[in-house]
Amino acid sequence: MIFKHKESSMIYFDHNATTPVLDDVIEAMRPYWTSESGNPSSIHAAGRRARLAMDKAREKIAALLDAAPEEIIFTGGATEANNIAIKGMALSKGKGQLVTSAIEHPSVLEPMRRLEKEGFNLIVLGVDAQGRVRDAELKKAWTPETILLSMQYANNETGTIQDIGTIGACARERKVPLHVDAAQAVGKIPVSLKQLPVDFMTFSAHKFYGPKGVGGLFVRKGTRLTGLQDGGMHEKKLRPGTENVAGIVGMAAALEIVCRDMEAENQRLHRLKMLLMEKIKTSIDNVEFNGGEESLNRDSSLTLRMTEPHQLPNTINICFHGVDAQSLLMNLDLEGICVSTGSACSSGSLEPSSVLIAMKGSKELAKSSLRISLGRSNTEKEIESLARSLARAVEQVRSAVLRER
Ligand code: PMP
Repeated sequence: MIFKHKESSMIYFDHNATTPVLDDVIEAMRPYWTSESGNPSSIHAAGRRARLAMDKAREKIAALLDAAPEEIIFTGGATEANNIAIKGMALSKGKGQLVTSAIEHPSVLEPMRRLEKEGFNLIVLGVDAQGRVRDAELKKAWTPETILLSMQYANNETGTIQDIGTIGACARERKVPLHVDAAQAVGKIPVSLKQLPVDFMTFSAHKFYGPKGVGGLFVRKGTRLTGLQDGGMHEKKLRPGTENVAGIVGMAAALEIVCRDMEAENQRLHRLKMLLMEKIKTSIDNVEFNGGEESLNRDSSLTLRMTEPHQLPNTINICFHGVDAQSLLMNLDLEGICVSTGSACSSGSLEPSSVLIAMKGSKELAKSSLRISLGRSNTEKEIESLARSLARAVEQVRSAVLRER
């Protein structure tokens, strides 16, 4: 599998940052870089063939998400889709209140903060210790001026799944449009846009074994958005510019594969995750699982009613108390193991994860937490290696701290 090149024996546990493109996806894309490289807006045969490929991809993606093809807008990824939905709604209304949560991805929070500077009213809701928005707090946040609620489906750092069904029903009651950033949910858990009371939904191909730089925005029929960029008529003027035909074809192929394999793969990933959690608990002391099953019972009465699993089957976020997670990450990297300390989009920042701080209220815990996100290529053997390396690395970092005292 990709990422295990002959020259290196890297073990990849960072699938929430990105996933390798599947071989079948590369094959599906290949003609659209070579023999079929027409512009889908051209009228001649080459253009028509590119348009047909794009139409088919749109139909496939819509069917897999239980939506209509005309409700899917292709974008350059989730960041762009989030900006189009949030700023597009703000632009079409001109003023009003925006509501979101403290654990959103920067591609939601930053557009919101920019709009706040421009005069919109912004409410950022806190979350409970499992990372879920509290029902009561959400209900208190709306005003008649609320023009948009933006809520993430699954968190990139902890894998916490929000109860979008209940949140959406609340939004519908108040006639507030709901945007959902589902970049970490689409391709990982079943998503039916017929069943979910959602008006806009973001997704991104590179989170489900498709290419980088391509994604989409679902815009429910009858909802209106103002485009942010000016140019041609592409994608209903919401995303003008020649479409990434090969990327779009690859995204459809990838979504088809992950949806086909989802049930079996999720059971397998869940088993691997349980195995890893068990091994960590038995070999390392003073650990705490963030947003996971273990912490569910503590104050579950405060959370929204959960009718579905509450954490992605591939994600584990663990605090190793007293250990600097960056040192742990570097130790594992030296052994060829890739994990992360937070969102890839915030790496480079020395600040501890704002998601974990919002959940647990502790900078110390955030600084000592690692994210492990599993994927299709991971095996039981790799989980065993990871558990052994983690135990060794935690021991090394903890003894170094003791020596320094
Ligand atoms: N939202 C979430 C929840 C994400 O995890 C990411 C990627 N880390 C994004 C948005 C941005 O996605 P993209 O890289 O496609 O712009």
